[in-house]
Amino acid sequence: MTEEIVAGIDIGGTNTAYGLVDKQGKIIADSTIDTDKSPEPDGFIKILAGEINKLVAEAGGFKLKGVGIGAPNGNYHKGTIELAPNLTWKGIVPFADKMKKELNKPVVLTNDANAAAVGEMIFGGAKGIKDFILLTLGTGLGSGFVVNNEVVYGHTGFAGEYGHVTMIPGGRECGCGRKGCLETYASATGIVRTAKIFMEERKDYSLLREINPALIDSKLVAEAAEKGDKLALDAFDYTAEILALAIVNAVVVTSPKAVFLFGGLVKAGNLLFEPLRKHVDRLIMPVFRNTFEILPSSIPETNAAILGAAALAWKEL
Ligand SMILES: [Zn+2]
Repeated sequence: MTEEIVAGIDIGGTNTAYGLVDKQGKIIADSTIDTDKSPEPDGFIKILAGEINKLVAEAGGFKLKGVGIGAPNGNYHKGTIELAPNLTWKGIVPFADKMKKELNKPVVLTNDANAAAVGEMIFGGAKGIKDFILLTLGTGLGSGFVVNNEVVYGHTGFAGEYGHVTMIPGGRECGCGRKGCLETYASATGIVRTAKIFMEERKDYSLLREINPALIDSKLVAEAAEKGDKLALDAFDYTAEILALAIVNAVVVTSPKAVFLFGGLVKAGNLLFEPLRKHVDRLIMPVFRNTFEILPSSIPETNAAILGAAALAWKEL
């Protein structure tokens, strides 16, 4: 008997990861190709479709039901990838339609953070939770808002760009061309910017001063904080305070049962969660106090993007 399976695809600036995922969230087979393997999207889609067919044939005993795709600036309504700054393809790429033609299977596409939220909903800690928010704290800050079991896409298909709410008017420059966006503070790169600003503004000793500034990343800030370094701990506290503000602002809009955090910065564990919960408690509107939890995502970081895209396919197809 052949078992139904879906393919999850995560399109990244450098690599595109793809895998076959069963209904329980088990990855049967997976692989990656370079996203710039073909300079034109058409060529790339042909190659990728071929690779997926190959993977299904090699796995044996499975029938491909459909495909889910997570992509930067992915538009859920149109199935397009639009003006993605980190991809070489320019303009608006009707990716889902083209993939559908190549594979002759249904294809559904959204942005990577929304796909991660669906992954949390179908395979992770949000199972059975109808209202939750997922924030991914990586190079930037991505988000997925789930209200009454549905991801909020908005009429444009681009809703949930929470990394680009203005936290500090006239603040840090952001890749979107504006200033003071949440992701310039609350992300793996944001905390490094904070640590470097503190090092410039302050005179106190820090373990971080022993490191070549070009090499400082969020992991090294966490390592210094773990050793009790005051400046690094303060960088975590500042990051947590801005993130807490963003969370309490979101909570008054959608009243989630849980806020899941995912991504590189979340590996710092209690260095982030302790000050975050402290600031949230202080800043939250009283009627919402203790109505929601802040939790690490339960989806393992390896293959999370494939699982998210696959979960979208299982949910929608
Ligand atoms: Zn921005």
